[in-house]
Amino acid sequence: MSGHEQDNFDAKPSPGEESSPVETDGPIDPVDLIVGIDLGTTNSLVAVADARGPRVLRLGERLAGDDQEDDQEDLVPSVIRYAGEVVEAVGAAAAADLKIHPTRTVFSVKRFMGRSYADRRKEASVVPYSVVEGPRGLASVEIDGVIRTPQQISADLLSHLRDQASAALGQAVKRAVITVPAYFDDGQRQATRDAGRLAGLEVVRILNEPTAAALAYGIGSRGAAETIVIYDLGGGTFDVTVLEVMPPDPDDAEGESIFRVLATSGDSHLGGDDFDRVLIRDLIDEAIAGGDGTDRARRLAILREVGARAKIALSEADATRLVLDGSGVLPDVDRVLTRAAFEEAARPLVDRTLDACRRAVKDAGLEISKIDRVVLVGGSTRMPMIREAVEQWFGSPGYVALDPDRVIALGAAVQGSILAGVRRDALLLDVIPLSLGLETAGGAVAKLVVRNTMVPTKAVEMFSTSVDGQVNVALHVVQGEREMVADCRSLARFELRGLPPMPAGIPQIEVTFNVDANGVLGVEAVERRSGRRARVQVVPSNGLTREEVAQIEADSYTHAREDMLVHRVVDLAVNAALDVKWIQEALARVRDVLPASTTESVESHLAIVEEFIASARKDPRSVDADAFHAAKESLDKASMPVHEAAITRSLRGDGTEAS
Ligand code: AMP
Repeated sequence: MSGHEQDNFDAKPSPGEESSPVETDGPIDPVDLIVGIDLGTTNSLVAVADARGPRVLRLGERLAGDDQEDDQEDLVPSVIRYAGEVVEAVGAAAAADLKIHPTRTVFSVKRFMGRSYADRRKEASVVPYSVVEGPRGLASVEIDGVIRTPQQISADLLSHLRDQASAALGQAVKRAVITVPAYFDDGQRQATRDAGRLAGLEVVRILNEPTAAALAYGIGSRGAAETIVIYDLGGGTFDVTVLEVMPPDPDDAEGESIFRVLATSGDSHLGGDDFDRVLIRDLIDEAIAGGDGTDRARRLAILREVGARAKIALSEADATRLVLDGSGVLPDVDRVLTRAAFEEAARPLVDRTLDACRRAVKDAGLEISKIDRVVLVGGSTRMPMIREAVEQWFGSPGYVALDPDRVIALGAAVQGSILAGVRRDALLLDVIPLSLGLETAGGAVAKLVVRNTMVPTKAVEMFSTSVDGQVNVALHVVQGEREMVADCRSLARFELRGLPPMPAGIPQIEVTFNVDANGVLGVEAVERRSGRRARVQVVPSNGLTREEVAQIEADSYTHAREDMLVHRVVDLAVNAALDVKWIQEALARVRDVLPASTTESVESHLAIVEEFIASARKDPRSVDADAFHAAKESLDKASMPVHEAAITRSLRGDGTEAS
């Protein structure tokens, strides 16, 4: 284990248009360029940070014809294939043909970094490539008679990453921060450093992965000292780290925060793969029991894949269907898997992670109540059961705003930018630079937290629905100073689902915006009657520069009058639509008792107002707010007799019930 490391609104039933933040990026001064590299067991990533904040580079190594998701391009499989002295393929290309060249393709080499062969004999026996005792007793890999140490193999991976990153940035990458697990000993750290050097990189720092995760969230850049836990559940490993964070000395302009590892714990053989297995345990048992060796391997490979897919589906849905077309090797299967059953079956696995948390907190000499916050890292922390367990155990929701697969690379880039001196320009403020709000009916914005509010801060507001019987409510969190969503920056969308059907305006949806000391925004929506709740978390300052903030502020002044008018038109349209609906319904009920002239007058007024509503929905800027308001007032006046007749009828009880 390492020691010190100095190192009244209506929520909309459907989503509207999303405003897109500016995505362009000028090159970083070459002298300042220090990339962050997450050299992972399974995947590796490269990120950079500039005034806009950290971002992972798309390394454009997409394979022709593969169906990789767009957003997966930035994850490079830590897989490499050799032919004698030659590197034959790296990354996705090597991973794709792993089964064709099992003995020449190296993966998970990180498990052997800086370790002796004697130490890693067991790990060595489960990989298809040949692990031998190399120089100085180190675990090494032999392919076609060529022996390579894990650092040489990592160097080949890093060279590939360096070249790809240089191409992506359009400038040569020479300096890097590389991350390692907190439990890496000196030998393993040195091996990682050597790998960087062999790849022609100046390794300006070896950074602990948990520290990187904390940096990505801006922890330690301001405020008081904190004790945090990093809960990292990946595909095959679980690591928990207790970190003490001390913010920089305010008198020292160049000062850095200090991150001290207080304790680590975990399980090197507990991860997402185990969750896949519990989901289809019976099928796996059957597959193991029957058939010959090759059959068994094939079946297990198929089952692993469907298991993982079903598990990922259950992170979003309450149930998923598992269909297996036996095609000879497996039985036909068609069953529904529920999240509830999955969670029950996986409970022992979750408990094992919590046991490790307990050990780590105890080893750190702390009580759980002393932990200020938990950061979630690793793809498996997308499972709701993990988020809930962590929240319950630690007593507060964990940080999940950043992508758990990318947070380490992002933090490494932040460290790189601090070391390069770029970070000084970053948006790390004690106040909220831009207002935070929620989209309301018609595409207007209700601001809950106004700009320049000090952090931490909290705001609560009640909202309702605009459509009868709405069971799902879409919430859209935005940032900016303008009145309309289209002129603001979209931060996040989420849904409050499963509301009991109620007439429009009846549900009471309490929305809370909570910005903590690190600038992380948590938004929670609760429907009072049913208790249904949903939430989302974001880092609002990500992707924004000071110049942009200033521009957004200036724009809000320029457009203030126009914005106010548009907002008024949108509100008028929402209210008028409810009036029109009510008047039409009432008119249908009492038409028989009204003189034709009254009916005709009301109908013509309705038509005028409906036209205004239609124009407002199409383009609120084209509508004259005063004329719209006048038309609505006239309709209200003209429809008085309808109103009176409806009330009379309902009092006499001789008609359909008045609303
Ligand atoms: P990592 O090693 O951090 O990339 O984590 C990979 C693991 O995360 C694998 O076991 C994946 O199946 C798992 N994973 C990725 N996305 C999800 C998701 N949405 N729900 C549950 N597990 C996921």
